[in-house]
Amino acid sequence: MPEGREGWGDSTRLTHAKSAPAPLARTVGPAIQRGSTVLMDSAAQLYDHSLITYGRQGLAAQDALMAALCDMEGAGGCQLYPSGLAALTGAMLAVLKAGDEVLVVDTIYAPTRRFCDRVLKRYGVSVRYYPARLPADQILALGGPALKLVVLESPGSLTLEMQDVPAIAAAARARGVLTLMDNTWGAGLLFKPLAHGVDLSVQALTKYVCGTSDVFMGSACACDPTLIKALSDGVLHLGWAVSPDDAYQALRGLRTLAVRLDRHGQSGIAVADWLVRRPEVIEVIHPALASSPDHALWARDYSGACGLFSFLFRPAPDAAVDAFLDALTLFGLGFSWGGFESLAISAGDQLVQRRHGEALAGPLVRLHIGLETPSDLIQDLQRGLDAFAAKAG
Ligand SMILES: *Cc1c(COP(=O)(O)O)cnc(C)c1O
Repeated sequence: MPEGREGWGDSTRLTHAKSAPAPLARTVGPAIQRGSTVLMDSAAQLYDHSLITYGRQGLAAQDALMAALCDMEGAGGCQLYPSGLAALTGAMLAVLKAGDEVLVVDTIYAPTRRFCDRVLKRYGVSVRYYPARLPADQILALGGPALKLVVLESPGSLTLEMQDVPAIAAAARARGVLTLMDNTWGAGLLFKPLAHGVDLSVQALTKYVCGTSDVFMGSACACDPTLIKALSDGVLHLGWAVSPDDAYQALRGLRTLAVRLDRHGQSGIAVADWLVRRPEVIEVIHPALASSPDHALWARDYSGACGLFSFLFRPAPDAAVDAFLDALTLFGLGFSWGGFESLAISAGDQLVQRRHGEALAGPLVRLHIGLETPSDLIQDLQRGLDAFAAKAG
């Protein structure tokens, strides 16, 4: 009976034929290492916690993405999550415990609100909502002795109210309260939460960083070593992992984020400027417009705009808004944003849970301006406005 390789059965040959070359050729992007098991060099290494011993914590592609995100956000540490929503819930779970109180901006992304109401409360964390434009000292005054965290999102979802983030962050820090900001609109480039005193900077990489509407991922970044540890413990304990292929796609998107955002922003302002002058529109909600009540805050804190904004039609039945949406041919009708394509949605019933803020003066439509030629988008919107006017009378 032959010894060693020669004696192996076919099944052993198939499972042990060598496949992993070492070292790899050096490409521009990281290796997409697919691995749950990480092979250790010796028995002693199996329990050496300074080494990567399991693939769930991420391998080459995830490491490269986290390092790039830390660089962009000015962070000391970063964690990846399987969606933007998971990043928000994960960062909150990482720092909260039963008995804590959280103050959440009323204009928060609706699924984040759903998590606060249906999960945080069930785990004994009390949640209160505050109006986006409330001054910092009044926000903090809403909290009791158990106040642990203030959650911000600026601009707010759908209605795009800007918050005075540095003032809120400073007031919270002075009271020993943490701050967490959903910075998806700022995409890590237009606004830097950590540099403005925010403790936890979270974004849905699903949007602009990936940029192609085909990957779910989120990130949470921090500077403080205790918070960095809390974030990584949170991921470890809850067992989240992102695939190396998705991390690679996100990193690929990150490489072109600056030029894409610039174009989204400029095209968005061009379309917003055009919409302002349309008789069917009573207000364009875009912080980069000089007419916006939040323009000064945006100009002070932001280096630019992305392609997401909203507008209000003059009062009209829902059927007129639907006629507008259905007449669009370049704008897709769909949720999410940050991809290369333009999208439009009506607000539907997304605003009904909010407790603060006056009723809107007319139906709200949110636009995402993609990378198409702005004059083509304007022509498409004109078609939509004509259909609106025909239905609205
Ligand atoms: C889309 C979005 C999220 C959630 O991201 P997902 O990857 O879709 O879970 C969170 N916050 C904001 C502001 C978003 O627009």
